[in-house]
Amino acid sequence: TSSAAEELISPSVQVSHTQLLIDGNFVDSASGKTFPTLDPRTGEVIAHVAEGDAEDINRAVKAARKAFDEGPWPKMSAYERSRVMLRFADLVEKHSEELASLETWDNGKPYQQSKNVEIPMFARLFRYYAGWADKIHGLTVPADGNYHVQTLHEPIGVAGQIIPWNFPLLMFAWKVGPALACGNSIVLKTAEQTPLTAFYAGKLFLEAGLPPGVLNIVSGFGPTAGASLASHMDVDKLAFTGSTDTGKVILGLAANSNLKPVTLELGGKSPFIVFEDADIDKAVEQAHFALFFNQGQCCCAGSRTYVHEKVYDEFVEKSKARALKRVVGDPFKKGIEQGPQIDSKQFEKVMNYIRSGVESNATLECGGDQIGDKGYFIQPTVFSNVKDNMLIAQDEIFGPVQSILKFRDVDEVIKRANDTRYGLAAGVFTKSLDTANRVSRGLKAGTVWVNCFDVFDAAIPFGGYKMSGNGREKGIYSLNNYLQIKAVVTALNKPAW
Ligand code: ADP
Repeated sequence: TSSAAEELISPSVQVSHTQLLIDGNFVDSASGKTFPTLDPRTGEVIAHVAEGDAEDINRAVKAARKAFDEGPWPKMSAYERSRVMLRFADLVEKHSEELASLETWDNGKPYQQSKNVEIPMFARLFRYYAGWADKIHGLTVPADGNYHVQTLHEPIGVAGQIIPWNFPLLMFAWKVGPALACGNSIVLKTAEQTPLTAFYAGKLFLEAGLPPGVLNIVSGFGPTAGASLASHMDVDKLAFTGSTDTGKVILGLAANSNLKPVTLELGGKSPFIVFEDADIDKAVEQAHFALFFNQGQCCCAGSRTYVHEKVYDEFVEKSKARALKRVVGDPFKKGIEQGPQIDSKQFEKVMNYIRSGVESNATLECGGDQIGDKGYFIQPTVFSNVKDNMLIAQDEIFGPVQSILKFRDVDEVIKRANDTRYGLAAGVFTKSLDTANRVSRGLKAGTVWVNCFDVFDAAIPFGGYKMSGNGREKGIYSLNNYLQIKAVVTALNKPAW
């Protein structure tokens, strides 16, 4: 823990909502069971939260179905729907300190990141999708023969959404924003590690005038609540963000129940490629950010840093120096860049990968240990001389462990960057337009950031190639996930033209 960061900036916040949100009411789980949600700084209990299970998912789906079939939500004017979403965004800003505090408390991410980056993005996403609500419409289609043909873009119905713990609020927004804009109702299953902020946001939605049953929120575990939602016969669409292994399970559950369409946003092992002509200091800083942001707990983390051989040694030296300067500590303190990992399971997983890196003879430049003996803090860790076949270069570590690899030319690095089961994102650092274009087109990844990384505007689509998932979230593309397209073909007796 650094002395650079002393002052506690957290306003004291109380946990006000720990029950399931079903049909506009906060209620206990049907079984009456609860589970603890823990503070990653200490492993201590923050609160006991309702443990939803199959019965609660049933109740939530029933409420969502009723809200969809009987309205008013899908039948309200799109303008009215957009106004509810805009009011919600205003309330989010009004309560940004409570939301940011809960997010940091439950997840461990720096408070300044929660407050100054994620809450504004959260509100922005809802305003973005509020803007779409009254701009969703079909086409008039010229077809052969005497027919008037139009397409109706209808909401798909009850959307099931399962989200992870690394960005509890942002993942909520990516899922809920487009679904509401299109007029759907929702059952959202939060991650068992981070249930708190979604409930708070749910309360704000009710305050904003969202009708009961349109947004239902169930906390609980994956194999129980999550699996019930994925396999529910009355859920019309499923959206999931999480690990690739769980994504496979979810797809199977959807296929074996009612064949509901599924969008998946899964793991990654994103390359970050630095050419010899790049601004090295900027590339070092961005590569550091690409990997260490959010304690390394990003699906798109730049976790394979490929550096051209001519600048390799300089880059490694500077990356090590930057990692040694990283300020780790209590995420509620000012100036903190890195908080604890989310829980003991993730902590152990990351430590095992660090051991694997050492055993496979990568060079441990810095870090590698736990910080303190409480909570789940890990030293910013940098490995150099990493080879493609090492486990740390192949598996998603999901922690503060940077792996730096060496390359010689463009074609070689494109081939190596693509030699992975994942394809979520990539970074390219070069001053050459030609190199940037060649690499951007050559990479099999859903996002390529050129001379930047982790730019997450609401309008930019995000999603994966290969085993990083399917479908796109954010932007105009996400609307397609929540719409049903109906073709209406009307015979014309006497066409005017
Ligand atoms: P992690 O291993 O990092 O917790 P997961 O992909 O398992 O990542 O979790 C992401 C989300 O998926 C969480 O909300 C979790 O509860 C849920 N989940 C986990 N297993 C299942 C499952 N078998 N069926 C449905 N949802 C699941």
